[in-house]
Amino acid sequence: MRCYVDGEWISADSGDTLEVLDPATGELVGTVPALGAKETRRAIEAAAAALPSWRSLTAADRAAVMMRLHGLMRSRTDELARLLTREQGKPLVEARAEILSGADFLEFYAEEAKRITGDVIPADRAGRRLVVIRQPVGVVAAITPWNFPSSMILRKIAPALAAGCTVVVKPAELTPLSALALGGLAEEAGVPAGVLNIVTGEPSVIGRELLESPVVRKLSFTGSTEVGRHLTRGSADTLKRVSMELGGNAPFLVFDDADLDLAVRGAVAAKFRNAGQTCISANRIYVQDRVHDEFVRRLADAASSLRLGHGLDPATDVGPLISSAAVTKVEGLLAGAVAAGARVVTGGRSPGGRFFEPTVLTGVRDDLALGCEEIFGPIAPVYSFTDEDSVVARANATEFGLAAYVYTEDYRRAWRVGEALEYGMVGVNDSAIATAAAPFGGIKASGSGREGSRYGIEDYTELKYLCLGGL
Ligand code: ADP
Repeated sequence: MRCYVDGEWISADSGDTLEVLDPATGELVGTVPALGAKETRRAIEAAAAALPSWRSLTAADRAAVMMRLHGLMRSRTDELARLLTREQGKPLVEARAEILSGADFLEFYAEEAKRITGDVIPADRAGRRLVVIRQPVGVVAAITPWNFPSSMILRKIAPALAAGCTVVVKPAELTPLSALALGGLAEEAGVPAGVLNIVTGEPSVIGRELLESPVVRKLSFTGSTEVGRHLTRGSADTLKRVSMELGGNAPFLVFDDADLDLAVRGAVAAKFRNAGQTCISANRIYVQDRVHDEFVRRLADAASSLRLGHGLDPATDVGPLISSAAVTKVEGLLAGAVAAGARVVTGGRSPGGRFFEPTVLTGVRDDLALGCEEIFGPIAPVYSFTDEDSVVARANATEFGLAAYVYTEDYRRAWRVGEALEYGMVGVNDSAIATAAAPFGGIKASGSGREGSRYGIEDYTELKYLCLGGL
């Protein structure tokens, strides 16, 4: 495939390409251009040139284009999902859900475009009026990860386009095909040339151009905390606005009054979806003493019945990890825990390739890398706890603050713990928390900014205050 810049499909001037491999088999799925600094600058210039006319359209006209793209995504869901599974590995049913959830963002923000309103502030003195309007921030750079190759892009471009911004997207080099497929649909939907540009290639080369350009007024990033810090520092010289959706270390609290079936189902989804490769995956499962053994038994039963396989096989519940480095990392975290006395209840090994068995562990010490780092793999460490205060303290004892989960039938506790957890999002008796309708995002080392809901569009608008005097 080629890159999409200024409404044209381009190759790298150098002719260089990157290979995209199926993580389940290692087979070549496709190649994409390895663009350099010059082509990236062309994309930025195209976005800048397209900005005046795109932001001058009425919200309804921008919404109409977005809804055409939404319709195309929905009508091509199967095709898009298959491509996504081939380059990323997740089961087809999850890929389909990702395509549809990405399309939801287009619909939500097409509607929201019409509600970007301002304010008239009662004047502080006679003879003048104080007015606040919202305007698009301008050219936006979006850098996205491989774990959700399609929806992470839509979360950014939907509010950006709705607000009247133009965008340069740099998808992850491991999964650029879904991004480019989206470019094709955008062209078909009538998104004007230059409004959406998609560039692939060496991250640091493209990243540097995006960071150094004074034309790029905002950077929206989803990925690791380490790269997020680098990009935030790199945005300082041009004082770009940044939205950072970074790593997590989600605690999953199960109190002894919880509905255990619900809690186990929630834990399975929050841990094994996308083979544990999501930033809101349950990373530490804390279960109160009285129900600990029963919960572990049920979770282990559920985990051992999940089928590993190629994502295109309809029988597959859990696909491969993204790379062999990811398998090595997970093996290392597990070995460290076992050496420190943890017990493997089920799973615990790689059956070969980039696959790793759904694993349940007990008796893990709090201070190990397994509990302090983002596992990003299908390992569920279960810790026991005695009382509410201590488990909340343990849950908060991390630099991260993205998602947390609480299972309890006591509404007072749900409120208390929900408020005490230092996280941007808390699921109470529910682990499927991501939706276009709600603000997704973190605090502390998990970043800043929100994606989804009416709050999400604020990241793409600037407030302007007009003081109208001499009246
Ligand atoms: P993950 O741990 O999910 O792979 P990364 O933070 O490494 O997350 O990557 C997320 C995105 O950031 C990808 O698109 C990747 O190419 C991009 N990226 C990584 N390093 C840089 C960089 N120096 N400049 C710009 N983008 C980068």
